[in-house]
Amino acid sequence: MMDLKISEIINALNGKMLQGDKNILINGISTDSRTIKKGELFIPLKGNNYDGERFLGDALKIAAAALTANEKNKKLITYDKPLIYVRDTFEALHKLSRYYRDKFNIPVIAVTGSSGKTTTKDMIHAVLSKKFNVLKTEGNFNNEIGLPLTIFKLNKFHQVAVIEMGMSGFGEIKTLKDISNPDIAVFTNIGVAHIEKLSSRENILKAKSELIEDFTTENTIVINADDDMLIKLLNKKDVQFYTYGIRNGDYRAYDIIQFEGGLRYKFKTPFESMNVELSIPGIHNVYNSMAAICIGLKFNVKKEDIVKALREFKPGKMRLNIINTGKIKIIDDVYNANPDSMKAAISVLREMKQRRKIAVLGDMLELGDYSDKGHRDIGEYVYISGIDILITIGNLAEKIAEAAQNSGMAKDNIYICSSNTEAIDILKGKIRNNDVILVKGSRGKKMEEIVEYLKGDY
Ligand code: ATP
Ligand code: MG
Repeated sequence: MMDLKISEIINALNGKMLQGDKNILINGISTDSRTIKKGELFIPLKGNNYDGERFLGDALKIAAAALTANEKNKKLITYDKPLIYVRDTFEALHKLSRYYRDKFNIPVIAVTGSSGKTTTKDMIHAVLSKKFNVLKTEGNFNNEIGLPLTIFKLNKFHQVAVIEMGMSGFGEIKTLKDISNPDIAVFTNIGVAHIEKLSSRENILKAKSELIEDFTTENTIVINADDDMLIKLLNKKDVQFYTYGIRNGDYRAYDIIQFEGGLRYKFKTPFESMNVELSIPGIHNVYNSMAAICIGLKFNVKKEDIVKALREFKPGKMRLNIINTGKIKIIDDVYNANPDSMKAAISVLREMKQRRKIAVLGDMLELGDYSDKGHRDIGEYVYISGIDILITIGNLAEKIAEAAQNSGMAKDNIYICSSNTEAIDILKGKIRNNDVILVKGSRGKKMEEIVEYLKGDY
């Protein structure tokens, strides 16, 4: 972060100085008193289960300055460090972040969608990094706290930023847009993740569209044209569009060849064509990489460099990682699950030819009224994908098992478990050399426990 003067912060936030020196500089922002560093400004936030103001004193032992929404806190502070009163610290975090973003005249690319945001964001970063100094969202810092903290990482060397935006209801993307003022928007897909709060894909599209409500001729929107909801965005006038897809779009992938551990495809644009190779599996990654190519081309990254960046690209931890233990192959996708990503992962398993295929699938959470259908659809998909053994964990995932059996999968090949431990017990008796085992479920199910077991000696 570039240094900010306390007086500048007071002006930007319309704050009131309660104590300390206005000329002090701060060199970072933190909302966590446990990890705060010297020179940083502490912004205490309030959540359902915590109140950052309680740690104001602790934070100030190390931090350079702090905000507070409680004027009385002045008395509590014995250190003579700047303390600034603001009406609402959350709002202040957002306002300061926007103030800071506006110091940089660089393009900001926002990536949103139901699945594939992190992967697409990381691929865009990989491609653009061949030519530019790029700031990206670290990991999954895609919410109302993570995004502003990402913005504060901008420094004068950055030439472009690519940030991930997540949401679970209306108004959230608008807040993230207001904080970061993006120039380019990438929409990966509109699935059923977070349907619990929003109840329909139409509403999910509407909520995500908050990102582009003030876009004009200067702005660019990159969309997956195979997504029946996203193509509705094409009605937006006076904006530059890049549309990519396998069936639709101006930028197209064709002749896709999948092999163990990766895939190859040809890519055609209105102007040129290229041969792309990915070292990660899954048709969904064809989509994620196409978004990255569109951005690369928009920023005039050389074709060879785009291809190289994608060939070298490795996925994030716990996201479709293929682990070869020597004995078996594990498809570790335990990071999270929703019906779309579950299908994507099962397709990867299906492509593992000449191996016995085992799917260990846990509950998919946060699906609301869609939960029953979402799980049943996966059961059918397991059956039509020719999976040999299905192990489900949890009472939602049990519906996957029921539907697989109703579709025609042999009962003897289906195991219903209520915990990871129980599933491990079943696996113990079942695993054979050369098996391939997919492990996937929602974050709350902690299915990395199963992957750890499979990686060990048994
Ligand atoms: P989150 O909402 O948790 O931030 P995300 O949108 O960032 O998720 P990723 O972390 O990139 O998504 O991918 C999570 C999982 O979703 C992957 O492991 C994969 O199984 C699946 N996935 C990735 N890309 C796509 C895609 N384009 N379409 C469908 N599923 C995908
Ligand atoms: Mg993510």
